Amino acid sequence: MNISNHGRSILHVDLDAFFVSVERVLDPRLYGRPVVVGGSPETRGVVAAASYEARQFGVHSAMPMGQAFRLCPDLIRVGGSHGMYSRASKAVFELIGNYTPLVEKVSVDEAYLDLSGTHHLFGNALDAADSMRREVKERLRLDLTIGISSNRLVSKVASGFAKPCGLFDVRPGQEPRFFAPLPVKVMPGIGPVTAKRLRDFHIDQLGVLASTAGWFLEEVFGSYGASMQRRARGVDETPVCPPWERPERKSLGHERTFAEDLDDLKVLRGRLQKLLEKACVELRAEGFLARTLSVKVRYADFVTETRDFTLPAPSDHDLEWWEVAQQQLDRMLKRRTLVRLLGVRFTGLERGFWQGGLFEKERVVQRERIAVQDKIRKKYGEQSVQSGDRLWLRNSL
Ligand SMILES: [Mg+2]
Repeated sequence: MNISNHGRSILHVDLDAFFVSVERVLDPRLYGRPVVVGGSPETRGVVAAASYEARQFGVHSAMPMGQAFRLCPDLIRVGGSHGMYSRASKAVFELIGNYTPLVEKVSVDEAYLDLSGTHHLFGNALDAADSMRREVKERLRLDLTIGISSNRLVSKVASGFAKPCGLFDVRPGQEPRFFAPLPVKVMPGIGPVTAKRLRDFHIDQLGVLASTAGWFLEEVFGSYGASMQRRARGVDETPVCPPWERPERKSLGHERTFAEDLDDLKVLRGRLQKLLEKACVELRAEGFLARTLSVKVRYADFVTETRDFTLPAPSDHDLEWWEVAQQQLDRMLKRRTLVRLLGVRFTGLERGFWQGGLFEKERVVQRERIAVQDKIRKKYGEQSVQSGDRLWLRNSL
């Protein structure tokens, strides 16, 4: 079953309450107290990160700051120092890079490592992981949680169990047994909608999903059913892919054919905005800026139109691109025909992150909010950050 992963040691490393931990290094009085990083309640700020002490009161990321203070009146709020978080992250990954060059960073505080074949240098993966944790703690005063197994998927779930400040090792061959009793929703890729669908069929645990008849899953979920089942059995062959091994992308985009042809401009704009946000999230996740956006419209009679627009400076910013996209759409919809498809595509991709501009300070605040949204989307699924949040994004301009 899991033959190709035999002998592999894949680690998922995750810094605990990262922003809060960095703030504590800067101000040790914050240790042991309920701390959040985020904007003030007066400016409709949200929680970007919460310490474990704050989480005990029910405070969590993305919560409006006002609500956080109602849940925990003794809460200490810190404004946040984004440059410092980047520097701390860089220091951590430099240190981790001494253990293996095969590091795939997936966010500012999270990465996958392939330690296969390094035992002659650092002993087995468990020893290496333990020394990595101690080194990060002693030299940078940050807590690292690590999940270890033969593949990325199982290690990711394992680290979730080890948090905070722990180490969880799933021995080779034990992956299915580790997964079996877990609720289906712990599996990355199973969002609330799929979880509910599974529950409707009394598939509550990964072990049940693993042993459900394949034809049935295929009937209900299509080809996704088969891959979901493989993953429920603890099988994942995705390699750890350091940046230099990743093929460079030329473009990135999404399109959508509607269940029913549309002509309402407001609805069409809403659909376009969703596609654009999704593409912008991916740009940022992959560390790209784009120069050009193409908006595509296909009408009910299959006539297709595209319009390109190039910004003077490349960007990965939702709002900047939304203005462009909206104008393109408005200019295109001149035919009195229903629309069957909308699409957006970024080209002219460059490596980099958005650097700020004229209104540096406001922009940095916005940037942090977007980073939080992206994190939430990644964790809870595409639908978790919706128009309400777009509203506060816009209010912050
Ligand atoms: Mg973390």
